[in-house]
Amino acid sequence: MTRERWTISVADRPAAVERILGTLRRRTVPVVELSVSRESPTPRMMVVVDLANGSGERVRAEIEANPDVFGVERASEPTAESGTPTQSEDSRGASSMSSATLYEPTAADPELLRGRRVAVIGYGSQGHAHALNLRDSGVDVVVGLHEGSSSADRARSAGLTVTTVDEAARSADLIAILIPDPVQPSVYDEKIAPHLEPGNVLLFAHGFNVHYGEIEPPQGVDVVLVAPKSPGDMVRREYLAGRGVPALIGVHQDASGKAREIALAYANGLGCTRAGVLDTDFGAETETDLFGEQAVLCGGFSALVKAGFDTLVEAGYDPRLAYFECLHELKLIVDLAYANGLSGMRAEVSDTAEFGDYVSGTRVIGEASRKAMKEILGEIQSGKFARRWIDEWQGGGENFKRMREEEGRHQINEVGNGLRSHMAWLHEEEASS
Ligand code: NAP
Ligand code: MG
Repeated sequence: MTRERWTISVADRPAAVERILGTLRRRTVPVVELSVSRESPTPRMMVVVDLANGSGERVRAEIEANPDVFGVERASEPTAESGTPTQSEDSRGASSMSSATLYEPTAADPELLRGRRVAVIGYGSQGHAHALNLRDSGVDVVVGLHEGSSSADRARSAGLTVTTVDEAARSADLIAILIPDPVQPSVYDEKIAPHLEPGNVLLFAHGFNVHYGEIEPPQGVDVVLVAPKSPGDMVRREYLAGRGVPALIGVHQDASGKAREIALAYANGLGCTRAGVLDTDFGAETETDLFGEQAVLCGGFSALVKAGFDTLVEAGYDPRLAYFECLHELKLIVDLAYANGLSGMRAEVSDTAEFGDYVSGTRVIGEASRKAMKEILGEIQSGKFARRWIDEWQGGGENFKRMREEEGRHQINEVGNGLRSHMAWLHEEEASS
């Protein structure tokens, strides 16, 4: 593969750009970046393409032969990587992920779970999906719940065997700890650790407690990670549909010499190998997960939405318009980017929106935000964030509750509640789930 940047001068005619993209699509040339500029007298289209070796000249000649095209200038991209998958624009980064193994169903050995009893501790988002998918994959599963657990009835009516955490841990060979991260250390110390024997496997769906040393398993036990990259209801739904969600696996301690294979067999039992299972480690999973939720998914996202909403409301616009623009419509954009990547999203929005994106986006998320992101990542890597959260939790969570209350009082919540009550489709989804 070679990566090239082409600047194509195009006639200002309807669908000229689309026809060029059509040629690239027919020639199965991946478009890594696309932008169109109308500043000069002739509109110019900039594409970064990945070319199979030797195919560049032929495809370029075909585009030059297009009557809408005045010329194609080419420059090779120094960032091109040969042999790297190119399904996303992110593949240019030299991340450790891009070199990690992606496992498919044939790589897993389901026999590694036969004859082993799996205790699923917790029956919440992940717990219910793991217990049911493994059971349906032919694994001997028992669910361990604390006394008076509100989920015990649900697990029993799904046909699962439910017992106490102690009893489940005692009777099992593989113990999956699927209760909320902050409560894991005390439940582990009191009810799981006393029952661990050499040859057992401890399994986590997130690396937090092991990575930051809050749980220190004894020698002789395999300690593995199987982290589906989706909430539990989707893990279950995709399994039932004969598909799966992607997952990360990792090994913290390999006492048996088979820890990775066992993690892979478990991920396979969840259906995850059908979507691809990536090999990683507890540290990378934990740090990227925390960074993602703080900087982009939860923290960055909600701060961006609130700032946009506040800017419009303070300028005197109707808060309902502000809500539609800054929150409601996000779903449309996220769906496009989710299905087609950032360039694909930009190809679907208007040229005006795309131009505005290029000239304004980096003013909002500029150098100051990138610097803040680096600081946030540093605090995650050093364990400073983990310490702060553990102290907060152990101290009764007063600050946490106060912040939750303050955020709940932001005007966007009230405006949104009012508007969403009129969105009939949301209530249909509620009724059918
Ligand atoms: P969750 O839904 O909050 O777990 C709830 C379950 O834990 C319930 O069965 C609850 O019992 C039980 N539980 C709560 N406190 C307990 C205690 N003190 N002792 C015993 N059981 C207790 O948890 P989750 O979101 O599935 O997360 C589980 C693990 O998966 C975490 O490590 C998380 O980071 C990871 N993970 C989660 C997701 C996700 O999208 N949710 C995705 C990937 C990985 P009751 O019935 O009494 O409420
Ligand atoms: Mg996550």
